[in-house]
Amino acid sequence: MMGLSLCLPSEKQFLNMNKNFQGDVLNLVKQIPQGKVTTYGEIARELTGSVGAARAVGQAVAKNPYPIIKPLQGLRGRGAEPHIPCHRVVKSDGDIGGYSLGVDTKIRLLREEGIEIKGGKVANFEKTLFRFKGKTLRFVTDRMLGKLSTWLRILGYDTVYAADIPIKNGEEDEDNAIAAFAACEARILLTRDKNLAASARKKGVQCLQIRTAEVMEQLRELFHHNLAINLEPVPVRCSECNARIRKVEAGKENVLKGKNYVPTSRIGKCDFWVCERCGRIYWEGSHWRNIRAQLRQLNGLKPSGV
Ligand SMILES: [Zn+2]
Repeated sequence: MMGLSLCLPSEKQFLNMNKNFQGDVLNLVKQIPQGKVTTYGEIARELTGSVGAARAVGQAVAKNPYPIIKPLQGLRGRGAEPHIPCHRVVKSDGDIGGYSLGVDTKIRLLREEGIEIKGGKVANFEKTLFRFKGKTLRFVTDRMLGKLSTWLRILGYDTVYAADIPIKNGEEDEDNAIAAFAACEARILLTRDKNLAASARKKGVQCLQIRTAEVMEQLRELFHHNLAINLEPVPVRCSECNARIRKVEAGKENVLKGKNYVPTSRIGKCDFWVCERCGRIYWEGSHWRNIRAQLRQLNGLKPSGV
């Protein structure tokens, strides 16, 4: 069959030719199921371990040669229709973002897939968000690395602390339980214990032995091991319990009452988040600025080329 005057390689050929960043990005875009959206940052994190490449992802998505089926429906001729659904990629706050065929088309396509859009944003964003379950960095830490766990969660990483791992009957000690848990959940084990590192590696667990005691130094060690950790705090995860946090909607500020650490003067003036599991409240206050300042310092010190 002929492809009319559309001088494009087939989608498969295109993806094979571009075994590079753009090809990788578009391959991920193809995994987003109908009725779901993901963000440029999620794709960046999946590919590089960091949201830092979100802008590059946006550019790669914008150059998608097969944006959507519908406008191409008259151009059949290649068997399966070329279709890389980049209309399902939105901004990290749920904002619709751009689209090569126009924002109105993007909104129409998303609505046709059952996604609710309100005020240019995806409604029920948390529920609609699709997350990749591949290379995204997820960790388990030993009991020596409680502070590092907290920091990794502040940076958005799903990090389980050893003390929170249920020890099943039949596993003689915590080390075995940690290694088994890391293997089962495909998490990277971070430990200060040489013996635990060795035994976990024998079980096929990806494992990093942390050699320094101070948390900033420990984060830097992760870079030395070529883990491209994002260095921007993101309000997605509870630093206490690792569960997801959600933004407190306007009119639902009741959840903030009765928590004596919440600055009531800030209510209505800044965003708040609540942990879905333990109920802890987060907001962008001075502690966030401190965290950013410390991370910036680290940013300047991390090895070049990361
Ligand atoms: Zn929590």
